[in-house]
Amino acid sequence: MKLVLATGNEGKVREIKEYCDTFEVIPYTELIEPFEIVENGSTFKDNAMIKAQAVYDALGRDDVIVLADDSGISVDALDGEPGIYSARYAGENASDKDNLYRLVEELKKRGLESSPAHYTAAMALASRHGMQTVHGWMYGNVITVARGENGFGYDPIFIPEGYDKTLGELQSDVKKELSHRSKALRLAKIVAGTIKV
Ligand code: IMP
Repeated sequence: MKLVLATGNEGKVREIKEYCDTFEVIPYTELIEPFEIVENGSTFKDNAMIKAQAVYDALGRDDVIVLADDSGISVDALDGEPGIYSARYAGENASDKDNLYRLVEELKKRGLESSPAHYTAAMALASRHGMQTVHGWMYGNVITVARGENGFGYDPIFIPEGYDKTLGELQSDVKKELSHRSKALRLAKIVAGTIKV
């Protein structure tokens, strides 16, 4: 069965392929020309569904399942920010580092050195049977001093619950076990296995 990913992002494609080895996993960009998808939903789930539906419609075939994901970090002391704006917290074309520093600045402005936070991953599966969604979360704390080079995005300032190191310092297999994305993928795999196309 073909699982078409609504992303051309190599990192995401690699991670999802590792988890879904019982499916034929293909980024949609290998089937059709990449196109811009406006992610104007108000939740992670909305944005994942927007991406999955856009790619499913563009493919114009009913023998596939399209999997889309949307993710980000929500910080308690910042009333849940950056949330769905995680990838563009410091502006439209901001780098991962710019976004991380903006978050650190926002905490410092409030006189804080840390805050509880969590990552969310929403995944949407579009097929001829309609849309299904799953979520995964990872809880912990963000700090104002970046530590370690592993992972990406906000990982150097995120300490998962039960650890004293950031995801930047921890080995990648620890994150693979704990992460919001891996938890959502575990569920997505089960759901995909129940869809007959
Ligand atoms: P999107 O899911 O591609 O829209 O982007 C999610 C954004 O959230 C990324 O650009 C990162 O800033 C952040 N993010 C999501 N998951 C992670 C993670 O596992 N580690 C670090 N940052 C993440």
